[in-house]
Amino acid sequence: MRWLDGNSPHFERMNREAGHAASLYFHGMHRYRIQGIPESIATAARATMRSPQYGHPAHVEVATGYGPCRLCLQTFTVGTDERLLFTYQPFTDSDALPAPGPVFIHHEPCGRYDDAALPDALRPLPLVLEGYGAGGALMVQRRVGSASFEPVLNEVLGCPGTHYVHLRNAEAGCFIARIDRDGPSD
Ligand SMILES: [Zn+2]
Repeated sequence: MRWLDGNSPHFERMNREAGHAASLYFHGMHRYRIQGIPESIATAARATMRSPQYGHPAHVEVATGYGPCRLCLQTFTVGTDERLLFTYQPFTDSDALPAPGPVFIHHEPCGRYDDAALPDALRPLPLVLEGYGAGGALMVQRRVGSASFEPVLNEVLGCPGTHYVHLRNAEAGCFIARIDRDGPSD
């Protein structure tokens, strides 16, 4: 679509006038959704105090770090929020090599994040984006570093063979969220 050309003066003006949300929506070529872990996994972990996928005991503690919560994708208030730690495996492709690891969610019920914009709470965190293809094959890995998040995500989504993206902590390595394309890219 010609009018989405990010280099055109018209786009620049439209982008400035449209505000923050729209600028994220129109940024680059790819539309996407950033989502917390499945609600059913979080609900089961809270109810059973075990990892729903592995059966390992879950653990509740007052937050000593920022997290974030893998369901609502908001950071914890250290020393106040109670968080639940359990083992989670983020790949849904049955051909993918499982990658179980520790994740935190709020102990109390919270809302699952599902939006096209990166939660503001995650922007200051060390982030790495990984694009995965068929069979869970890693196609591309990019650290966000001091760059802005959206262009790096667009580069990863544009990498040939990438079907979906995992957002991970670039220092701890742990899984934060999954990002899927939303609608056709043009
Ligand atoms: Zn939460």
